[in-house]
Amino acid sequence: MIKQFNTFDEDYDAIPTSRRTTTATAAAPATAQPEPTSVGADLSFDDPNISEVVKAVDVLPVVKIEKGTVARFALVPGVPLKQAMTHYVQGQGTLICHSTKGRTAACCKNEQPRPRFVALVFRYVNVDPKSGKFPAGVDRPQIEIQAVRLSKTNVRDILDSVDEGGSAYTIDLKMKHDEGRSIGYKFSRIAPKNAWRATPALEAEALAMAEPYKDGVKLATRLGKKLNATELNAALESGSASEETKQSMETMLSAMDDSE
Ligand SMILES: [Zn+2]
Repeated sequence: MIKQFNTFDEDYDAIPTSRRTTTATAAAPATAQPEPTSVGADLSFDDPNISEVVKAVDVLPVVKIEKGTVARFALVPGVPLKQAMTHYVQGQGTLICHSTKGRTAACCKNEQPRPRFVALVFRYVNVDPKSGKFPAGVDRPQIEIQAVRLSKTNVRDILDSVDEGGSAYTIDLKMKHDEGRSIGYKFSRIAPKNAWRATPALEAEALAMAEPYKDGVKLATRLGKKLNATELNAALESGSASEETKQSMETMLSAMDDSE
């Protein structure tokens, strides 16, 4: 058998070049729907449009990992990072900051907002969860389109993984829990070349899968919850309901640094 990718890293070279057809299921097309409100219109199972409605609320999964495991992925080229200032509120999750230039909103009364970034990625779902490498016998990378949440530190880690003159879009990255802290992740390079570009056919299929997400609309929804002013006040109130909660929140935030 002729190996076509001698320049790949060892774990990639281990993948035989036969049967390069991908069976990865294409993600449901994300049409540029207006942002769903928290309560949608009533729906009947007999409604001929029900499958369209369900498809429209389909969310882009976020890269998540268990402690002790890694995720391997590549940044989708041509899709810019989305960014927003956010607050983390216990029990509420990440909320988009409401302050604007010259106007400080209620969410910023007690704390500074933190920058949060999200990137669209090709996640390789058939890697070994401990090492991030393709196990022996795997004949092609299996890809899912996901969003990865990044702090400033995470973005810097990714930039540091790039060789001089190289690009973050041409390397494969690894995400794991930061062992030095209770919360937060570490990002580093796992391979100098993208596994998804192994063959022209794979590359074309991967890019086609990413196509419905290229406008960044779904990606932006993964930055955090966008609440209206009333919902934000309620969320902040519930977040600081007890001094105990507040204490644990502060501990958590200081532990997180800017990592979440
Ligand atoms: Zn704020």
